[in-house]
Amino acid sequence: MTQTNYTDKVTRVAIIANGKYQSKRVASKLFSILKDDNDFYLSKKNPDIVITIGGDGMLLSAFHMYEKELDTVRFVGIHTGHLGFYTDYRDYEVDQLIENLRADNGQSAAYPILKVTIYLENGKVIKARALNEATIRRIEKTMVADVIINKVPFERFRGDGMLIATPTGSTAYNKSLGGSVLHPTIEALQLTEISSLNNRVYRALGSSVIIPKKDKIEIIPKRLGTYTLSVDNKTFHYKNVTKVDYSIDHHKIHFVASERHTSFWERVKDAFIGESDS
Ligand code: NAD
Repeated sequence: MTQTNYTDKVTRVAIIANGKYQSKRVASKLFSILKDDNDFYLSKKNPDIVITIGGDGMLLSAFHMYEKELDTVRFVGIHTGHLGFYTDYRDYEVDQLIENLRADNGQSAAYPILKVTIYLENGKVIKARALNEATIRRIEKTMVADVIINKVPFERFRGDGMLIATPTGSTAYNKSLGGSVLHPTIEALQLTEISSLNNRVYRALGSSVIIPKKDKIEIIPKRLGTYTLSVDNKTFHYKNVTKVDYSIDHHKIHFVASERHTSFWERVKDAFIGESDS
């Protein structure tokens, strides 16, 4: 089929919306415009671009829907709520988004993601990827775990748990725990404590640590029991976790690069500071 856009290629677009009334309204507007447009082909299968409608949570869910296609998919988010860290467009900017997609030259802004490997006592190995972060916690009792960084036995941690954040995830749960905001051009992970015990008997570092791309983090729980592991907005409970490995994945997430995909610092400012009065 011959198409008329400058790349001579139809862009396959998937529209993923959350269940909110406003998101469904935006989705149906987008759908009705794109379905008759020769430059685009609407398909949830093998899309070139995934448009999410909702908030950051919807973008996280879409990331997980397409996490096996990260090398071929680019994401763009429309937000219908109030805070959007991964979302570049507001719900009333659908026409602007379509105009920008028409002018799109295939460029992307790519950010590191996290690879998680969970080892269970029964020999099962579970692999996952996170866009924001992964956590390991022990809910009923103190979590006691050895933390190994780049094969160095670093500390025996005692507390509620630990969080490992990507650079773009550093502004999410990690930030609430007192972790630093890390620019995504720094390909690193951040290991942040969740309520560590620190007294004369028990000692943990007490601050978050930035881990370079080449280093792996290993967390080895020292007590039997149920552990709660989260990967972005998903939570799992596992009995008898023997080890969890965390490292930077060799895939990245790609966002459609347009003038609307503003710099990281603009997004941090928009999300947390806003306009100053002076
Ligand atoms: P949600 O949609 O209620 O998200 C919680 C908030 O986190 C929202 O305001 C969202 O906009 C914001 N957020 C998400 N990713 C962000 C990022 N990278 N930078 C800045 N803000 C971001 O809940 P959900 O859909 O379940 O989202 C899961 C995310 O919520 C997790 O990945 C985690 O980072 C975050 N979370 C935060 C806390 C906390 O801050 N205490 C606790 C649990 C989960």
